[in-house]
Amino acid sequence: MARERRARARGGLRGRAGLRGLAALCGLAAAAAAGAGAPPPTAGLVAEAEGLAEWLVGVRRELHQHPELKYEEVQTARLIRRELDRLGIPYEVVAGTGTVAKLGRGEGPTVGLRADIDALPIHELTDVPFRSKVDGKMHACGHDAHTTMLLGAAALLKEREASLRGTVKLVFQPAEEGGAGALKMIEHGVLEGMDRMFGFHIWPKLPSGKIGGRAGTLMASASFFEVEIRGVGAHAAMPHQGIDPLLAGAAVTTALQALVARETSPLDSAVVSVTKFQSGSTYNVIPESAELAGTLRTLTMESMTRLRRRFEEVVRGVGTAHGCSAEVKWSTHMALPTVNHPDAFKFTKDVAGRLFGAENYEEIEPTLAAEDFSYYTAEIPSTFTFLGTGNRTLETDIGVHNPYFKLDETVLPKGAAYHTALAMSHPGLWDGPAEGAASAAEL
Ligand SMILES: [Zn+2]
Ligand SMILES: [Zn+2]
Repeated sequence: MARERRARARGGLRGRAGLRGLAALCGLAAAAAAGAGAPPPTAGLVAEAEGLAEWLVGVRRELHQHPELKYEEVQTARLIRRELDRLGIPYEVVAGTGTVAKLGRGEGPTVGLRADIDALPIHELTDVPFRSKVDGKMHACGHDAHTTMLLGAAALLKEREASLRGTVKLVFQPAEEGGAGALKMIEHGVLEGMDRMFGFHIWPKLPSGKIGGRAGTLMASASFFEVEIRGVGAHAAMPHQGIDPLLAGAAVTTALQALVARETSPLDSAVVSVTKFQSGSTYNVIPESAELAGTLRTLTMESMTRLRRRFEEVVRGVGTAHGCSAEVKWSTHMALPTVNHPDAFKFTKDVAGRLFGAENYEEIEPTLAAEDFSYYTAEIPSTFTFLGTGNRTLETDIGVHNPYFKLDETVLPKGAAYHTALAMSHPGLWDGPAEGAASAAEL
């Protein structure tokens, strides 16, 4: 079966080359070979990408063993640039550890394909032979896979560069995990002249190889908070001589849950999670202060603005009611909701259906997880989708951000083909042979 697929892939390459040669012989421009508006040839793309599987797995495992945190992706960037050099693809260094490679003739529209490249401060607990070599750091969100799949697309697109009338920008973006790397890339002009941007995330909760998506909001806006509650320390046996910040902190934690449960429509998803509560250091002293931290998430910016205001009122009000002072500090960057543009989304769904079969596309519910790809969707018509990696037998159905997270590596060629098909199929970008033309030329 695999041999058959590889043979088909080789056939596809021969077909394309044959058609190009024929066009040149007849003195025809490559554009003449393309049926106006006909889709580009993507039928053999997955099989062709599977021919790259060994290289892709090698690249991914090299990345996986050397995870680097936001804005520290020096070795990662070096690997990306090494592979681009090998493929003969020019690139620019953006925002230090970011890389933007360019392909195509620059005579038509510009499409961006994005991969994030950073890892997480998690200590890997899997038993894979290529597990992280850095204690406390792990590619637990699959960004090593994203980087690899975009390099795979680079190889596939390079093969087809003569037919890329427009421009494809490959955006290797740093610092997705809480560093707003996307915003940094935008500030450095990555969206200038860009018509559309596409990105996707591997998703262990979706069966391996399936594409999941939805029009409109896919992922949440996220704010991160720190709360400091100050009281007055005292002997634990004489609480009336102090003001207990721990009791106030507990009351604040409970009261915050009412923001979602009692003040937000059940049809408008939101979440407040207090994930850190630190106070005191021994058993017979009422401490001076208590510190809380956590995240507030919503699917719309209206809800985020309202809930942030109410959050501050509740924290201060409950703190005051307990005789404490309470301060809220928000993180500098707030992720926006990731909103898929309706036209760009329809296009993505069609391309996914054509490439993998309509039965492998799944309409999914939004998630309260957040993505800094949202900065791109806020600027230009873009789409973000999920690529399933869940396989119970391979134990790859454990969620991201988990020390036991594992990747089903068979998706790597699929992701490379998906990126490639999205770029090639963008209206006006391709002027090579149309779908079916290559095999017709062979006959
Ligand atoms: Zn993540
Ligand atoms: Zn991620």
